[in-house]
Amino acid sequence: MRVYSIPMRTRFRGVTRREGVLIHGPAGWGEFSPFPDYGAKECARWLAAAREAAYDGWPPPRRGHVAVNATIPAVSPERAHALTKASGCATAKVKVAERGQRDGDDLARVEAVRDALGPAGRLRVDVNGAWDVEHAVAMINALRRFDLEYVEQPCATLAELARVRRRVDVPVAADESIRRAEDPLRVRAAAAADVAVLKVQPLGGVRAALRVAEACGLPVVVSSAVETSVGLAAGLALAAALPELPYACGLATLSLLEGDVAADPLIPSGGVIEVRRPRLDEAALAAYEVSASPAGAAWRRRVADAQALMDAPPVIGVTR
Ligand SMILES: [Mg+2]
Repeated sequence: MRVYSIPMRTRFRGVTRREGVLIHGPAGWGEFSPFPDYGAKECARWLAAAREAAYDGWPPPRRGHVAVNATIPAVSPERAHALTKASGCATAKVKVAERGQRDGDDLARVEAVRDALGPAGRLRVDVNGAWDVEHAVAMINALRRFDLEYVEQPCATLAELARVRRRVDVPVAADESIRRAEDPLRVRAAAAADVAVLKVQPLGGVRAALRVAEACGLPVVVSSAVETSVGLAAGLALAAALPELPYACGLATLSLLEGDVAADPLIPSGGVIEVRRPRLDEAALAAYEVSASPAGAAWRRRVADAQALMDAPPVIGVTR
């Protein structure tokens, strides 16, 4: 078990360093990197994903490459245009409704990204649950001239998503509403979304996420939890194993980290990532390893606490 701490290029979910544990087993390396605010019960699912990667490996891929989206933060229209062009991606996700931004700023940013993509590019917006129903309906109607493929989590709750979805003709995607295996079924029961954004670690592994995708019956977008290449490989394995993959995935997130633990990091080229499992590189890991520090000890306790709540056989070498 190796503990890493990598500085983030930009603050994300209130964290400035991404930390986690890399676990080695007969099938390779797995990543356990729940965010600091997650308790042991949630962490047990994240650990199940790492365990699957290290001990079981993943189902065979159905495709050799996965298309990924560029993510455009709440920046000026000029910067948004330049970032879209530089990404090489045919799909862009634009962050909107961020603190300090007005509706007019969001509209101008989306317009600039549409211009940079050209008419054939695909464009989605991510609201992170920030709008109420009326605001969402008004903004989606204002944005639809830019030909949105979907709007991600326009409101916070399932009931609100369902109300928005009935009133607009742009598809709605659920992201924050899906954090546990039972959530996609709630999304479907509430008729709250047209698309499900799935992440491997919170759902408990690639196989668990595949079952969730099948059970919810919605098209799936695979997204990362902002992991190292070790964790991203599991997201890639899910995207590669899905029977259908109609949308570009949110797996181009390694650039949010200052560095990585692999010699051959999972970064996109020409808007796609090759489906493969990168090798952990001791020299790369050495720059970010904190296994021997108090942070390392805290992470080992976190693994042990999560492990105590798992049904699966123990990860070797973990004691409480
Ligand atoms: Mg999102």
